[in-house]
Amino acid sequence: MTGPGFHFDNTYLDLPEALYSKLSPVPVTQPEIVILNLPLATEMGLDFSGMSPDEQAALFAGNVLPEGAEPLAQAYAGHQFGHFTTLGDGRAILLGEHFTPAGQRMDVQFKGSGRTPYSRGGDGRAALGPMLREYVISEAMHALKVPTTRSLAVVATGEQVHRETDLPGAILTRIACSHLRVGTFEYAIMQQDKEMMRSLVDYTLDRHFPSIEDTANKALALLEAVVEKQADLVTNWMRVGFVHGVMNTDNMALSGETIDYGPCAFMDSFDPGTVFSSIDHKGRYAYANQPSIVQWNLARFAETLLPILDDNIKHASEIAEQVLRSFGPLHKEKWFSMMRAKLGLTGDREDDESLVTDLLDWMHGAEVDYTNFFRDLVPGDRPHGKPYDDEAFVAWYARWQERLARDQKDLEASLALMGASNPVVIPRNHKVEQALDAATNGDLQPFRDLLDALEKPYQNQSGLTPYQSPPKPEEKVLQTFCGT
Ligand code: AMP
Ligand code: MG
Repeated sequence: MTGPGFHFDNTYLDLPEALYSKLSPVPVTQPEIVILNLPLATEMGLDFSGMSPDEQAALFAGNVLPEGAEPLAQAYAGHQFGHFTTLGDGRAILLGEHFTPAGQRMDVQFKGSGRTPYSRGGDGRAALGPMLREYVISEAMHALKVPTTRSLAVVATGEQVHRETDLPGAILTRIACSHLRVGTFEYAIMQQDKEMMRSLVDYTLDRHFPSIEDTANKALALLEAVVEKQADLVTNWMRVGFVHGVMNTDNMALSGETIDYGPCAFMDSFDPGTVFSSIDHKGRYAYANQPSIVQWNLARFAETLLPILDDNIKHASEIAEQVLRSFGPLHKEKWFSMMRAKLGLTGDREDDESLVTDLLDWMHGAEVDYTNFFRDLVPGDRPHGKPYDDEAFVAWYARWQERLARDQKDLEASLALMGASNPVVIPRNHKVEQALDAATNGDLQPFRDLLDALEKPYQNQSGLTPYQSPPKPEEKVLQTFCGT
């Protein structure tokens, strides 16, 4: 057997031992490859052609460890729906950090790989449906140009996992810039060890923000950098209509990548209150709440940094509050600039704000499909039929045309801006559910077709229509489940 060519480094082991536990994945009985992401493998400099399907399956199941891997489970804590809990990788194992040919350091992690010291009451395993869900949504997000962890492979374990019923078990191989979370810092601060906090700050800066490593106040620099990254990330989510579903602080990566795809979904018709997750009873993580939840999570992050922001705790709080206060205006600016791009507008006019908010109010009231609307919107050619013949929309369209004409020297530039901001296709929830249902029953074809359809989401291609239509009433998926 020729190995796939992993080049592992294991710097996480240089951090204080309280932050992880060394252990190997628990082997499974009958692993079988369900899907292997060859384009991602190529990007990572990995070549699986020298391995038989059985050897590939044994590798991605954790039955045979690749050379250089030094597996560990990470300790972390988190605010789950607002309540603090200590957690950790209860069903995940980090193999190490692989160096890509481009010199990028990428975490390689198994999800569903067996019990760990952090499993609490859980079985350490994962079901096939949720792992395929993470696979398809993360790959779709990548194609949509939203920062995200990636998915390299899913193997079926040949074992059943018991949830409400018995389900086929699976392991996902997740690739991430890192798995450092707000929750990692929340765990570290519990150890009441300033040196540990300092080493974690140094480590995070080194991995994600090397250009600001030499700053006088490193904790402050890190906080500012994470605020900026998260403002960018949530703006991207809002752009494509993504609802994460479980924005607990343990599911917020400091790298600014979207992480931990549980009961997430994309919105069909525009509604700020959209919630899918079956466990989000109060709508805490609804579509339009996401920016303020990011800010809340950032406040939890800032709290962990207080002891090293300044020796004077009062002064440290003032510094942190000032940075946290910057999030609101920063996000608003990014959000408007994103919405302007969706509308093909350049420049900054006083009444842009009402142009955008009036549109969204109308879209909400008329239950307009969020994705298709922005593709139907073409300068000089008002769309017709339901819901576009509505008087309110006709009037808005005229205002938009006027605004376009005021600043736009070049219509092509507007069209290009709109084309790059507005996807033609998203992983609609009903299509995802249909594909996962079929896959769980042994038919992978709908899943593969869905992946193909989502590969170039900014390009009109033939065959996309079934993936672009909003769900029929009987197809609507009202709730999504973690399936943990
Ligand atoms: P999640 O909702 O996937 O972000 O998981 C929250 C926490 O629960 C994390 O610490 C997970 O590692 C843990 N967890 C989720 N499912 C399981 C499971 N089946 N067995 C053990 N731990 C789990
Ligand atoms: Mg999680």
